[in-house]
Amino acid sequence: MDGKNIIDEDKQYIAGTYARFRVAFKEGRGCRLYDYDGKEYVDCGSGIAVDIFGINDEEWKNAVIAQLNSVQHTSNLFYTEPQARLAKLLCEKTGAKKVFFGNSGAEANECAIKAARKYGEVHHGEKRKEIITLKDSFHGRTLATLAATGQDAFHKYYGPFPAGFVYAEPTTEGVEKCVNENTCAVMIECIQGESGVNTLDKDFVKSVEKLCKERDILLICDEVQTGNGRTGYLYAYQAYGISPDIVTTAKGLGGGLPIGACMLFDKCENVFGFGDHGSTFGGNPVVCAGACSIIGRIDEKLLLSVREKGEYFKTGLEKIEGVEEVSGMGLMIGIKTAKPASEIAKKCIDKGLLVLTAHSKVRLLPPLNISKDEIDFALKILSEVISE
Ligand SMILES: *Cc1c(COP(=O)(O)O)cnc(C)c1O
Repeated sequence: MDGKNIIDEDKQYIAGTYARFRVAFKEGRGCRLYDYDGKEYVDCGSGIAVDIFGINDEEWKNAVIAQLNSVQHTSNLFYTEPQARLAKLLCEKTGAKKVFFGNSGAEANECAIKAARKYGEVHHGEKRKEIITLKDSFHGRTLATLAATGQDAFHKYYGPFPAGFVYAEPTTEGVEKCVNENTCAVMIECIQGESGVNTLDKDFVKSVEKLCKERDILLICDEVQTGNGRTGYLYAYQAYGISPDIVTTAKGLGGGLPIGACMLFDKCENVFGFGDHGSTFGGNPVVCAGACSIIGRIDEKLLLSVREKGEYFKTGLEKIEGVEEVSGMGLMIGIKTAKPASEIAKKCIDKGLLVLTAHSKVRLLPPLNISKDEIDFALKILSEVISE
């Protein structure tokens, strides 16, 4: 089949929820992808922060294949080595005490919501179920995580939603105004990815942490997008110097296979008991074997290189005429331009550079092993398109 046939067939049979670009990829390696005509693309999207070490990464692929050659699935009624090993790695690297595995970011957040509500009820009574999230947040597409998402556009059509979510302005006063005796948790993204790579102010985040600690309210960091080395820190909360009670992640964790993790720190270590939560596929051994190879390689040296590449990218972008502001951290970058972001993205893709958008901004989430030459190519194309 060629690219055109794939696109026609997809249009005929796939539910129309995605406004796709007219490109079908056949193969790739590292930061480069090739369509069915053999055209080359440099990838600055990583399949939305997923392909941490790019396409066809040897080490990840070997870990996945080795596990495929032994056991592909057992159900969570039994133990598997990769699941235990991944949980241990995550706990050792973050200080978390326990991990629950699901299959996506939304599921990781569902787990965090359940954990916070059970903690609230057990410790403070059955009314303590409210969760504060921020305006312009994004927490997923299931009904509860849509309800948690602080953007009206996502609330069209699908109500009634689960109750108990309150949206605060991203300021200390904004959050204080929403706190009451029924608040069990505050959930934040240190950098709001979907709504435009908005980096939360450090003092604000610290003030939320303090407020939470004083009232035994759980602080949940949604690191589905910011996590797994993306920002130049293993998890972005580490750059903020805060100690959340729950951290969720997904996207990059699996390096290209579906997984979500809800990490429970000291206060919530034992919040769940038998039967409280579950998932058929959660912590699948093949996915976990791959994830171990990803997390195992995110060390200080790699994180330093992510911070350096991020700075290099940012410096180059700020020189481009037509770039109004560059936001983000490490290799999670938002670009504010006078021209519409969707137009820029389309032109970049035509010229062989894959970029994303986030609300009114162009968003870059390249693989963490992107080379300097590839960054230079990205800067060249972005410069041509933006200042054209
Ligand atoms: C992508 C994303 C989600 C949802 O993850 P899925 O794997 O698509 O369910 C949740 N929170 C944040 C911050 C995200 O970026």
